[in-house]
Amino acid sequence: MTDTIKHLSALLVAGKASSVELCQDYLGRIARLNPQLNAFVSVDPDRTLAEAQAADARRAGGNVGIPAGPLTGVPIAHKDIFCAEGWLTTCGSKMLSNFVSPYDAHVIEQFKLAGMPALGKTNMDEFAMGSSNETSYFGPVKNPWDTSRVPGGSSGGSAAAVAGRLCPGATGTDTGGSIRQPAAFTGITGLKPTYGVVSRYGMIAFASSLDQAGPMAQTAEDCACLLNIMAGHDPRDSTSLERDKEDYARDLSLPLAGLKVGLPREFFGAGLTGDTARAVEAAIAQLQKQGAQIVEIGLPNSKLSVAAYYVLAPAEASSNLSRFDGVRYGYRTPEYGNLAEMYEKTRAEGFGPEVKRRIMIGAYVLSHGYYDAYYLQAQKLRRLIAQDFVEAFKVCDLILGPTAPTTAFKLGEKTADPVEMYLSDIYTIAVNLAGLPGMSLPCGFDAQGLPIGMQLIGNYFAEARMLNVAHQYQLATDWHTRAPPLPETSGVRW
Ligand code: GLN
Repeated sequence: MTDTIKHLSALLVAGKASSVELCQDYLGRIARLNPQLNAFVSVDPDRTLAEAQAADARRAGGNVGIPAGPLTGVPIAHKDIFCAEGWLTTCGSKMLSNFVSPYDAHVIEQFKLAGMPALGKTNMDEFAMGSSNETSYFGPVKNPWDTSRVPGGSSGGSAAAVAGRLCPGATGTDTGGSIRQPAAFTGITGLKPTYGVVSRYGMIAFASSLDQAGPMAQTAEDCACLLNIMAGHDPRDSTSLERDKEDYARDLSLPLAGLKVGLPREFFGAGLTGDTARAVEAAIAQLQKQGAQIVEIGLPNSKLSVAAYYVLAPAEASSNLSRFDGVRYGYRTPEYGNLAEMYEKTRAEGFGPEVKRRIMIGAYVLSHGYYDAYYLQAQKLRRLIAQDFVEAFKVCDLILGPTAPTTAFKLGEKTADPVEMYLSDIYTIAVNLAGLPGMSLPCGFDAQGLPIGMQLIGNYFAEARMLNVAHQYQLATDWHTRAPPLPETSGVRW
């Protein structure tokens, strides 16, 4: 654990390393390993080092008026879904492959204010639609644990970058599991906050009522530090919640005695592979040893969540993606005879097959004849799914289960069958439909040496409690300290 955010922050505070040195080290690592992993789509060393220099000056007191914070100088990577001024911001799509953002997303702004230099933009599924990073226009990301396997998606670039120690932490977004599932597949920790806790301003929209940004890092403690920076009210996002700032690290050291952990029987049934079931069961036993009590709960409508999601998310996507028409920004077809042809060819050439599939499904379920049968029905299911959690949280403080039914699968294994692919989010999607916070943390390895993740689901605004439980578990276990077999990953780097 020589390269956690907490450790790097301590080095900077003690003057044992400079931000420039840290950034140079990570940039070197990215240069050496990214050709193999494809985790980053853009790097800009001059920009990163200029930000590092400014952070060092801030620590030295050179920039009068902007005091350094605990993370000033610690580098971070950003999912390429966040608009970042001066950076190519592609969202994994040909449609935005030439788009340099003229402004910063709220999340990017917050990390800049904290003085955390950006190491680059990370690869992702096109418009965050996918569970394996294989829908990216820039090619798939490889899992650092086994480069013949996927890192999960859609925040697969961020996950692979953290797991491969190409950055100490990264931003991700989660519409149906895109922070938690790749965190599980790569053996890192990732958190999706309660809907509305992090502003969506400048975050390219997929399904606006589900999209939420969150941190990805090696440990729960690091995620708490990053969430402290990302979270907070922003009037530019009408769904951003007006709540007092909170310290997400405040409860990290609380003991677990008396904690009631709910186990949904629906999450432990068929479809869960042996090794994952065993690892999650061992994690439950570990938490019991630390004082947690187990309660069995039911989430009877959760089985409907994938079906409801694949109506609602495409419906919202079909509307959100109508802005990509070749007129104002992004890709435009080189040859066209008239305006209608320009729109058609631009969208036909600019979007990949998964994005087109979603736009077509979305337009269909919103159409006059089918709105009631599909869209309205899915909205009703969404309510029932959320209501299950309201009932569950009457008898438990947190819900625990697997993050994904399997460990990382092979590249190409599920690309021919979209439904197979959609099912890899079976345990994560209900959380987005309900707007609840959820996180994934490492809890073991399967027989092939691939990481296994367990999921914690909290009640609304229970992020601090979730992070507390995850941190206490990480104090008692070492799964999160294991690094993949890449050059220079093990041993003391800092
Ligand atoms: N895998 C899901 C999908 O393809 C979720 C993606 C996400 O959370 N962005 O829609």
